[in-house]
Amino acid sequence: MAKIINGKKIAAEFCNSVRERVDELKVRGVFPRIALINASNDPASEIYVEKKETLAESVGIKSDTYKFTAGTKEADIAELIEKLNADNNVHAILLQSPLMEGLRFRELVNLISPDKDVDGLTSINQGRLFSGEPGVVPCTPLGVLHLIRSIHEKVAGLHAVVIGRSSIVGRPTTLLLLNANCTVTALHSYSRNLPEVCRTADILVSATGQPKFVGRDFVKPGATVIDVGVSRITAPDGTKKIVGDVDFDEVSEIAGAITPVPNGVGPMTVAYLMYNTLKLACCY
Ligand code: NDP
Repeated sequence: MAKIINGKKIAAEFCNSVRERVDELKVRGVFPRIALINASNDPASEIYVEKKETLAESVGIKSDTYKFTAGTKEADIAELIEKLNADNNVHAILLQSPLMEGLRFRELVNLISPDKDVDGLTSINQGRLFSGEPGVVPCTPLGVLHLIRSIHEKVAGLHAVVIGRSSIVGRPTTLLLLNANCTVTALHSYSRNLPEVCRTADILVSATGQPKFVGRDFVKPGATVIDVGVSRITAPDGTKKIVGDVDFDEVSEIAGAITPVPNGVGPMTVAYLMYNTLKLACCY
């Protein structure tokens, strides 16, 4: 039976260290502050933003939420981003995705100053990750690597397979693991023989959003399995529940270590949002 990687506990411990460093920074007269821009009409975004506000408060980071409603134009958000870029009291800016229909994420996110781009999604920060230069790295991949390191003291030379290649999760996770000297295989919806390729992985990261897509036939006995996926499904009895990409019951029987959904990667993502805010307040 696999070791369950308790993301909630690991994230709480990590946040304690963030809180201590926030306190130190305040003594030096710097008060870390994050702006959360919510121009989404996805109900889940509302919950994610609330979680970010709550965690920010608990680690001593000031957060301001800017909620946009239906009919918002890109120019309205662009104007806010410009204002926040120019405000020396704001260290970090997050544009919550997905945006409402009609608003273009890439165009808007690229208006954020790379030095305040807390989720590392501007083309500048993505380019820095690509070339292995220091920059802001997206929060979810940082959380994924942290969880992997809780199992593997050394990751160099291990074979990591990442399913998914989005610019928010899959692609930066692949690059982060490559920069950490793993041998990395990136899979996507055009890839062939997925189970066979995945069975060669020492570390398997799945970020597809396909519920219970990864079964026991994808996993080498003893492998570490990190499930990034979050899907809301209706069970046969009508109850709604959240599941990951991985069929947890099946895979936990053969994996060496596995993250649950919920309480795996999710808490780490929010913890790293706080870490990146701190980093931006310290260093830029
Ligand atoms: P996207 O939809 O942007 O990307 C999904 C990726 O999975 C694409 O690259 C797609 O391939 C690939 N994919 C989809 N179906 C298959 C398949 N059958 N076989 C192989 N590859 C496939 O999603 P995100 O990257 O934004 O998010 C992925 C999941 O992670 C979602 O469930 C999301 O909710 C969750 N998430 C969780 C977070 C957390 O903190 N826990 C944070 C962010 C996201 P292709 O490129 O070819 O289309």
